[in-house]
Amino acid sequence: MLNPAAMLAAAAGVVALAVVAGRAEAAPPSSPSPGRDAGPGGSPRSPSPGPEADLGLPPGPASRWYDWRDLVVSSKFPDAAARAAAQITPRERAQFSDLAQVLDTMNDATPEGRWHVNSGYRSRELNTLIGGDPHSQHMAPSADEDNGPAAAADLEHPQLDAARALEILGAVAPDKVDKAIAYVDKGHAHVSTRTDGRQRGMWGIHDADKFHWYPSAEAAAVAWRTARALRIS
Ligand SMILES: [Zn+2]
Repeated sequence: MLNPAAMLAAAAGVVALAVVAGRAEAAPPSSPSPGRDAGPGGSPRSPSPGPEADLGLPPGPASRWYDWRDLVVSSKFPDAAARAAAQITPRERAQFSDLAQVLDTMNDATPEGRWHVNSGYRSRELNTLIGGDPHSQHMAPSADEDNGPAAAADLEHPQLDAARALEILGAVAPDKVDKAIAYVDKGHAHVSTRTDGRQRGMWGIHDADKFHWYPSAEAAAVAWRTARALRIS
């Protein structure tokens, strides 16, 4: 058993880490944002996992809130994500850069800190591994006619839910959204933007393998929370 002084020190360490982590996530962005890259203690993030050069990505941030690696990496399939990053074209990068601008606007309006991208750009290989739709907007080059030239990101937040993602987008960037879908089972929010400007403003939820569409972000958010409450009860 630790003596009281040691226990106090250990507890203080946990609190200090939590505070540092919270600050790093919530740091207001500048251009480029040092807060975004700050690790514990405010030092730059360590070179692993892989600087942009190792992934074949351009140096520098993709936007005020995201590095390129934030928009490309996959925690579940890191090798396939690295291969995807190596083949991303300048046009695809431009499409994901457009998307990152929309996400920046969303993050600017989120006092609780940055939304984490758990899946962004996908090669066909990566999309298949993840189990994505064959016409997924995560695959910028191979999107079909309906889905247009697009880019997509799946977002999660340590404090906020998928319904909140839709509410914020609906408030600050409604005309920049092609599809915003809150997933009832998986809990993430899928956000896409078309790079030909023809945004359809589709607000929906995905529940029990089906999509349901609503006339506004607010209506979709209410539907998501209702579905979650039914699921839990
Ligand atoms: Zn998605």
